[in-house]
Amino acid sequence: MATVTAATRAKREVAASARKQVEALGVEIRQDYPLANLTTIKVGGTADYFAAVTDTHKLLRLVRWARAHDLPYLILGGGSNVLVSDRGVRGLVIQNRCKAVQVQDAPCCDYPADTRPYLFAESGALMAGAARTAINAGLTGLEWAVSVPGSVGGAVVNNAGAHGGEVKDCLWDVLLLDERGDIQVYGVEELAYAYRRSSLKQGRVIDASFGPVLLSANFRLERGEPEKIRSTAQAFLSHRRETQPVEPSLGSTFVNPEDDFAGRLVEEAGLKGFRLGGVEVSRTHANFLINPGGVGAATAAEVVAMIEHIQAVVAGHSGVQLEPEIQKIGEW
Ligand SMILES: Cc1cc2nc3c(=O)[nH]c(=O)nc-3n(C[C@H](O)[C@H](O)[C@H](O)COP(=O)(O)OP(=O)(O)OC[C@H]3O[C@@H](n4cnc5c(N)ncnc54)[C@H](O)[C@@H]3O)c2cc1C
Repeated sequence: MATVTAATRAKREVAASARKQVEALGVEIRQDYPLANLTTIKVGGTADYFAAVTDTHKLLRLVRWARAHDLPYLILGGGSNVLVSDRGVRGLVIQNRCKAVQVQDAPCCDYPADTRPYLFAESGALMAGAARTAINAGLTGLEWAVSVPGSVGGAVVNNAGAHGGEVKDCLWDVLLLDERGDIQVYGVEELAYAYRRSSLKQGRVIDASFGPVLLSANFRLERGEPEKIRSTAQAFLSHRRETQPVEPSLGSTFVNPEDDFAGRLVEEAGLKGFRLGGVEVSRTHANFLINPGGVGAATAAEVVAMIEHIQAVVAGHSGVQLEPEIQKIGEW
């Protein structure tokens, strides 16, 4: 008779408890769940456990359940900045679909009592959708975000930005479940923001862990001229449609070096259109790696090999060492 290892026993216990959670939480926990379709580049393996949540209360209870079972977790927003390993993720992947967004005068009495309004957003709301809500309410400050894929959570963690704007310019505070399991409000000044970085970002390669979970964010905006706000946002959208590829990708692969553009350096090194397996350097924008064939056509290993190839060629050509902007997640 085959021996049952401690790891198998632990997995069975988690699976049995997970089944009970379906009744207790109204959250279904699936096993060996494919993740490729939940990312914008459409590559990668499976999660040992997977659940999608649609309200913050369930998100909190699920994270606390995972902590109680010593089951590391990883929050997935829009999957637009993460490369999932072909080996997948050991632990629980939680797809965050908590999407409430609301314009408020002041979230509570502790907030500065002047005339500037706030936009409250749950962390699973689309950043572009939150920006659209602000625009429709005649509020200015988030127009840049109207063309950025992904969730509010991903944008706040990454300090997402475009067209000269970024999260840190208009974020007021966030509600966070911290590493100790406490719920805390953090002001924007406590999040150590820098170019595409914050204290919430856990490095270039991350696995499931017991890290902080962003629950919601308040953005502080200004009232503006509705027509002007709308036309600015429209111009940003049009510019994006003209300059970026439509095929599956993770957006910009490399961080722009100081005073230069990664795309320009990749193009100058003659790599536009270069193909490796199912992955290609976009002909529309050389800082984008595309997977034209979609799910099943390319692997994460090919994306990594392509990144390393580009880094070597660009370093040889211009002497610049390009740094990846995207995050690798799971077991590498
Ligand atoms: C076509 C395209 C264009 C893009 N253009 C831009 C651009 O102009 N500017 C820009 O800045 N980026 C751009 N990106 C990259 C990407 O859209 C942003 O980085 C985005 O903010 C990522 O959000 P997400 O929800 O998809 O995060 P994910 O990729 O799902 O996650 C990113 C990281 O954040 C963590 N995370 C997500 N939500 C939470 C949470 N609630 N709590 C704790 N951790 C969390 C994840 O665990 C992961 O580590 C582009 C991507 C694509 C595909």
